[in-house]
Amino acid sequence: TRDQVHNFAAGPSPLPSNVLEEAAQGLLNYQDTGMGICELSHRGKEFKAVIEGAEADLRKLLSIPDNYSILFTQGGGTGQFSAVVLNLLAAHRLKNPVKAEEFKPPILDYVLTGSWSSKAYAEAQRLSLPPFPNCPAFAEPRIAASMKSEKWTRLPKKSEYNFNKEAAFIYYCENETINGIEFPHNSISSSFPFENVPEGVEIIADYSSSFISRPILNLEKHAIIYAGAQKNLGPSGVTVLIIRNDLLIDTTEASKLGCIPHTPITYEYKILSDNKSLYNTPPTFPIYVSALVLKHLLNNKGGLKGIENINKQKAELLYSTLESAEKKNKVKLVVRDENARSWMNVTFTIEGSPEEEKKFLDGAEKRGFKQLKGHRSVGGIRASIYNAVTLESVKLLCDYINEFCA
Ligand code: PMP
Repeated sequence: TRDQVHNFAAGPSPLPSNVLEEAAQGLLNYQDTGMGICELSHRGKEFKAVIEGAEADLRKLLSIPDNYSILFTQGGGTGQFSAVVLNLLAAHRLKNPVKAEEFKPPILDYVLTGSWSSKAYAEAQRLSLPPFPNCPAFAEPRIAASMKSEKWTRLPKKSEYNFNKEAAFIYYCENETINGIEFPHNSISSSFPFENVPEGVEIIADYSSSFISRPILNLEKHAIIYAGAQKNLGPSGVTVLIIRNDLLIDTTEASKLGCIPHTPITYEYKILSDNKSLYNTPPTFPIYVSALVLKHLLNNKGGLKGIENINKQKAELLYSTLESAEKKNKVKLVVRDENARSWMNVTFTIEGSPEEEKKFLDGAEKRGFKQLKGHRSVGGIRASIYNAVTLESVKLLCDYINEFCA
């Protein structure tokens, strides 16, 4: 049964049981309408209340100021790898309406700290190819910092960032889900080197796997923050965007100036915003469950600070257990930079023969610890400890690690 299992999946990942119970009820008979939530029009009053409630609750939870819009969209985090480039190139073009002959491809600065930022960079490269031979490219993606040569085991030092003052934007991934590396967080600031960012350069952040795990300390330094839902927020299928209002621009107007790639209509932020995220049929069920999760967080856990406290305790406990086990040469933490260790995805390897890892996973399975296998691209072990994973589950996993390494 559900009670006998501790689910450490990286995404889709566990959701609170009471939320799922309510969602199951809503799936059959939403608020006594005799119809399930998936059977109701996305333009009816019931769903309108759901999506507006989700937006208001998210605004409250993350203290999102009025000059930012919240959008619900589709296409996942991967969809946003494209959408952010398309929309921001259009916005940049409108701000720089030079003649096509004088057009210079804008620089896009990418900070590479793991697999997901690398994938976003790869997509920017595809979108930046010249539309025709002997034409200028649409953009010039660059690497502002990369930790690839160190196998993503640390974050760049402040001096290692090479931001360009002409760049249209800087892109980074707040938490690298696969590698288990995250920009550190304390009550003063997150360590992304905002102070190094040249004036006027927009900042975009992928928050998919750390969204609503703790407050976003420098929210207003960002132009866009986005997150796929399927970690802390809800089922896969919905992606949330927090976007500064002046970036809600008409990409068709920009297209008239030439030299920018076409933005598909469902990816244009202004269209989504003008239609309150209902330009076309949205993923109603994932939005409904996300709305329930947000309500649950606001009601039950003393706001985001309360959630942050529990997440911090969970991460500290698991890392200190693994550090002790490291001394016995039984495990090895992947991320060597202690300050950059993710609070959400704890990555480590089991040392010794390959059979040892199998033994660890088999033993885990017997005890009800599920989905601990690392991402297929890197192997090893990954314990994802998102909001819905309790401190109790983490304690039990630590007991098992201690027992395995004894
Ligand atoms: N960014 C991050 C940080 C992710 O963890 C993921 C996937 N889990 C993605 C982007 C891609 O998201 P999706 O699978 O929703 O396209």
